Amino acid sequence: MPPVWEPFCGGYREPVHDPEDPLTKFCTIDDLEVSGRAVLVRADLNVPLDGGRVGDDFRIRSSLRTIAELRARGAKVVVCSHLGRPKGPDPKYIMALVAARLGELGGFEVRCAPDVAGDGAHRAVAEAASGEVVVLENTRFAPGETKNDPALSDALAALADAFVLDAFGSAHRAHSSTVGVAERLPSAAGRLLAEEIVAFDRLLVDPDRPYVVVLGGAKVSDKLGVIRALLPKVDAMLVGGAMCFTLLAAEGYQVGDSKVEAEMVDGVRAVLDSEFGSRLVLPTDLVVAEAFAADAAHHVAPATGIPRGMMGLDIGPETAARFAAIIGGCDTLFWNGPMGVFEWPAFAAGTRAVADAVAASQAYTVAGGGDSVAALRSFGMEGAVSHLSTGGGAGLELLEAGTLPGIEVLGRWADGA
Ligand code: ADP
Ligand code: MG
Repeated sequence: MPPVWEPFCGGYREPVHDPEDPLTKFCTIDDLEVSGRAVLVRADLNVPLDGGRVGDDFRIRSSLRTIAELRARGAKVVVCSHLGRPKGPDPKYIMALVAARLGELGGFEVRCAPDVAGDGAHRAVAEAASGEVVVLENTRFAPGETKNDPALSDALAALADAFVLDAFGSAHRAHSSTVGVAERLPSAAGRLLAEEIVAFDRLLVDPDRPYVVVLGGAKVSDKLGVIRALLPKVDAMLVGGAMCFTLLAAEGYQVGDSKVEAEMVDGVRAVLDSEFGSRLVLPTDLVVAEAFAADAAHHVAPATGIPRGMMGLDIGPETAARFAAIIGGCDTLFWNGPMGVFEWPAFAAGTRAVADAVAASQAYTVAGGGDSVAALRSFGMEGAVSHLSTGGGAGLELLEAGTLPGIEVLGRWADGA
């Protein structure tokens, strides 16, 4: 058989903005000789489980392309992923349901391994023929996974001849199944990961301007790093969601009972007062409610003074119109985090207004984040963006740091490691 590894071919082949950019230097599955080989694919099958059923299967569908292509090329495809955040084996988080949905959507038989990389996994892989798919048990069932434990990485590597990272949503974590195994086997990016990297490359390298970032969602503590890193690069950063209240509090406004991260106020104030702080665009009005409930009595209040006993659950109509106007004038846009509690119709208008503005825009648009994608899907607007990312935290970290541990290790293979 020819070697597994085709010597590096000169980089990712799609047109990229900057050929010198390290992000673009990695191999794809085109560089792997897979026929008759076992290929371990780290996919992102971390889907929500609603009462024992697979909820939104966006991530499973997104993983199919790489798996189908490797099967068609005669590989024995060994798929692994984490599911939820169990701290060890937990019957609530077994891969069986996810594996069944994968097979159903892909139209192929799936064999489930009883463990992550133990005897059962080795047996399941040995028994599988070329073109067959084996799904390993939840990687988080192995205690070494999140520690990038060398023994686990060795055991995973022993299952296959080559490794494909396709889990963009986990590429920011240096775990055994993302980085450890990639250090041990010839490794390449799957189709989904490659597509994500190309999309983020357009945001990172010389974006068309104006470049606007829209941030919302639950916590500013998740996003202060990316806010700091992006402010010098963007033309405007629009902030809604629960996180805007910490910013409004830092500006000295009364925020009533809205969600505020008190320990973040000083850090946020420093960003607001910094050289590029004026690029932050905060709400001027909000939908405020008497309680955190779908049917709570609510009205619109100015952002400069939310009455005592009330909490902001959405941006107001004036803010939504202002955000929409700014979005309408941009040429590049990144959006992470809903503008309000979109799960409840009374507080979904702000998120929908942003979605409508993004859909109407001619700009290059990327949206990411589990709940942001869920919001777009609940509006039936999945197609509203140029690129719907499977990563939330991974996308934010990539924008902040310019690369991710899982991508970096692929680059080492591309350099002829
Ligand atoms: P993503 O998953 O897209 O990264 P996050 O997980 O950061 O987004 O935040 C999404 C959650 O934030 C949603 O469940 C939404 O209900 C909640 N949220 C948005 N605005 C508010 C608000 N004003 N008050 C409380 N929760 C909010
Ligand atoms: Mg979320």
